[in-house]
Amino acid sequence: MTSGDEVVVALDVGGTGMKCALVRPDGATVHAERHATDAARGPEAVVGTILDVAEGLAGKARADGLTPVACGIAVPGVVDEARGVAVWSANVGFRDVPLRDLARERLGLPTALGHDVRVGGLAEARLGAGRDAGHVLFVAIGTGIAAAHVVDGSAAVGAHGAAGEIGHILVRPDGPPCGCGRPGCLEAVASASAIGRRYAELSGAPATAAEVADRAAAGEPLAGRVWREAVEALADGLATGQALFDVATIVIGGGLAQAGPRLFDPLRTALHERLTFHREPRLVAAALGDEAGCLGAALLALDTLAKESR
Ligand SMILES: [Zn+2]
Repeated sequence: MTSGDEVVVALDVGGTGMKCALVRPDGATVHAERHATDAARGPEAVVGTILDVAEGLAGKARADGLTPVACGIAVPGVVDEARGVAVWSANVGFRDVPLRDLARERLGLPTALGHDVRVGGLAEARLGAGRDAGHVLFVAIGTGIAAAHVVDGSAAVGAHGAAGEIGHILVRPDGPPCGCGRPGCLEAVASASAIGRRYAELSGAPATAAEVADRAAAGEPLAGRVWREAVEALADGLATGQALFDVATIVIGGGLAQAGPRLFDPLRTALHERLTFHREPRLVAAALGDEAGCLGAALLALDTLAKESR
């Protein structure tokens, strides 16, 4: 990894869009493009698009005088990184897709397959808001809630590729039903979609989580109540995370982090109240925005490359 013209082909595949880039080993993006996932076409068509886009990016790199050295792909759901298999995904429809080997075959490049939130956490821990922390818990809060526990630059995968499902910590046993089939999970109460849903249920009018945060800040009692309930549930989830992992820094990403101090000020207080002997982590907003997944996919590919050449 010494020559200056080396790049990694990186893709972050989501339910609606794919963020794609050519990334240098130091984490600098030299080219970025976006494509629609169009998951309704079915998993086979999505895989076809992934391979076409990756091949196109490798070709673009070569045309620009760069050398593609590896490929990193991040996908949502359950991901078996060791086997390179997209095991299961609700929003893209993957069922046991050997995506790593398919990409390796098509591109002729060493390829790594990672989980979108885990690689996002990897990027935040190594290049973003968790830099130099050593032990980082990255929590992405959007339509769902998921986390990555990163220690010394590497994210725990779990025995079955399903580590970090903090969104399914039980926080309110009598709470609203979760997509996983059980009531009261953290993401059923405190995800951005859950906040909007709860407000709509109580007020009869639809609202996004950002609107609820705005209205709460403006003093609307109902919005204030919904926002407070979500913050308290989040603090319960984070306190559990801290009890398990004892991290130095918790990085909050995803759409909800954009609420800024309206989220972070009360969340810090609520978390502080819940910790007893545990050391209080730094609680910060993610720094890399929606590029984190792509950068993390590139980092994972470089890690894999380094391991293989050892
Ligand atoms: Zn659940």
